[in-house]
Amino acid sequence: MHYHILTLFPEMVLSGLKTSILGRAEDNGYITIEATNIRDFSEDKHRHVDDYPYGGGAGMVMQPEPIYKAYKSIEEKIEAAGRKKPRVLYMTPQGQVFNQNLAEELAKEEDLVFLCGHYEGVDERILEEIVTDTMSIGDYVLTGGELPAMVMIDAISRMVPGVLSNQVSGEFESFHDNLLEYPQYTRPVEYHGKRVPDVLLSGHHANIEKWRREKSIERTLKWRPDLLADAVLSKKEREYLDKIQ
Ligand code: SAM
Repeated sequence: MHYHILTLFPEMVLSGLKTSILGRAEDNGYITIEATNIRDFSEDKHRHVDDYPYGGGAGMVMQPEPIYKAYKSIEEKIEAAGRKKPRVLYMTPQGQVFNQNLAEELAKEEDLVFLCGHYEGVDERILEEIVTDTMSIGDYVLTGGELPAMVMIDAISRMVPGVLSNQVSGEFESFHDNLLEYPQYTRPVEYHGKRVPDVLLSGHHANIEKWRREKSIERTLKWRPDLLADAVLSKKEREYLDKIQ
């Protein structure tokens, strides 16, 4: 997976993404992360990339030309490497709300381009020209698209084979089957008078699996009942849900 980030703040995204698990994933060749500074493509002598909005109103709007040129520089590299035209994701509070299903879908791509807006946003014409998907990370407004791009890259990378040392941990966690993950415990067995549930110490894999699924169902019912409508449950698990409901 090759990530390409179009941004005015490359150091912000790179410092966040090149550490810990993602940093290791890049060192090991599972992903590449590259940030392109849109300002480098400004032809203005002061390297301006924004201007006042036509029609008036608060704030500044990012101009189309530097973004177009920055995007083209990425597209040319991808073409030269013989890979297909990438999906271009514009980070915007107006977009489709990102979730785990989208992370899984996007993890199948070879290249992803993230366009990070700033100020009041981006001239509509460049969005119409290059963007294939508009993505939001939630119903609130941030100062820029850098944090949303970082959030998405983190979640997508966990779904890229090889990135997590134990691939299973990416498959059986919250939102898989539209359920929240079961509670987790580690040593010590007893902490401040609370013991780890006996079943987890039993070594009986089938019972542990059944307990975990039931706890997932209970937890989802309590904290995110909206997910249950699309939860993937066996007949027995559905009966369990009916019982606790
Ligand atoms: N004026 C825009 C509006 O009302 O839709 C908001 C612009 S916001 C201050 C600046 C930039 O931050 C946006 O262009 C976008 O790239 C990014 N952004 C802000 N909130 C976001 C969110 N919830 N999800 C994704 N990107 C967001």
